[in-house]
Amino acid sequence: LYATYLIIPFTSVLQGVGLLQKGMGALGRVTEVQALPVEDTAGAAVPAGSGLALEFRDVWFRYRDRPVLRGVSFTVEPRSHVAVVGLSGAGKSTVFSLIERFYEPDSGVVLANGSDIRDFSRDQWRSRIALVDQDSTVLNGTLRDNLSYAAPHSSDRDLHEVLELANLSELVARLPDGLNTPLGERGRALSGGERQRIALARALLTRPDLLLLDEPTAHLDPVNERALHRAIRHAAQECALLVIAHRLSTIRQADRIVVLRAGEVIAQDTHDELLGINNFYTTLVTGGFVDNSKSLETEISPGWR
Ligand code: ADP
Ligand code: MG
Repeated sequence: LYATYLIIPFTSVLQGVGLLQKGMGALGRVTEVQALPVEDTAGAAVPAGSGLALEFRDVWFRYRDRPVLRGVSFTVEPRSHVAVVGLSGAGKSTVFSLIERFYEPDSGVVLANGSDIRDFSRDQWRSRIALVDQDSTVLNGTLRDNLSYAAPHSSDRDLHEVLELANLSELVARLPDGLNTPLGERGRALSGGERQRIALARALLTRPDLLLLDEPTAHLDPVNERALHRAIRHAAQECALLVIAHRLSTIRQADRIVVLRAGEVIAQDTHDELLGINNFYTTLVTGGFVDNSKSLETEISPGWR
């Protein structure tokens, strides 16, 4: 009964992936999500085809009178892996909000396969992307419920496939009732890393062309962090990946790193290239902030902002 209740309303609002993540905490919040206005359905179809190329082209954005993004340009090629690094408040999550179309640029444009994403149906656009953030919520239902509300028509085979990609096959084998095992109140029986990987599996089930990860390992211990990294490496073969990262292990995997400082892209290159030439980046990654559980801002003096 519980699962049915969840699945039906969620399918219609699911495209607001970020909202969904935040709205899942309790049934009270579910009602809140349901009450949101129906999204637009007008607009051009998102071009189908193999993969999705994302481009920020001279994007400026402010919240009220506070400039947050200042001429941001970068690209994410299909199936490539791009990391965004920068101190707290640099504008990293705002980049994601613009991609998800919670906000629009004041000037400049966000393009997907060469088209302004504002020209697309917002629902359809959001169905092509998926977000996993720092603290993924797990519902009170079964593992199956937790995965399939994202894509209700998934077969068991689909579910097992994404669980495998997210390195959760061992967990499933350990659960007494497999997919049908209740995960306990808000997934209490799971580790933080398992919850994050369930969120990753759920995201992959929607077969996104672009996966957005906002500091997915921020609260994980090293063992769970490594497991999530393996999962991310798997996932990255299937879609483009844009990851906001604090950990060196996350950053190193990227094809390109975009260094954001106070809303400006001050450099973008591979880890090895940046290490030699960019003082800000070098201080970020050699300053001891990475590869431990502390966040950047606690390790780097506010003078760097
Ligand atoms: P980061 O993810 O790099 O820590 P954010 O993109 O979250 O940075 O925030 C960039 C700046 O914009 C910060 O100064 C933050 O306080 C501000 N900001 C973020 N969201 C909002 C909002 N909804 N309204 C007003 N200011 C915001
Ligand atoms: Mg952020």
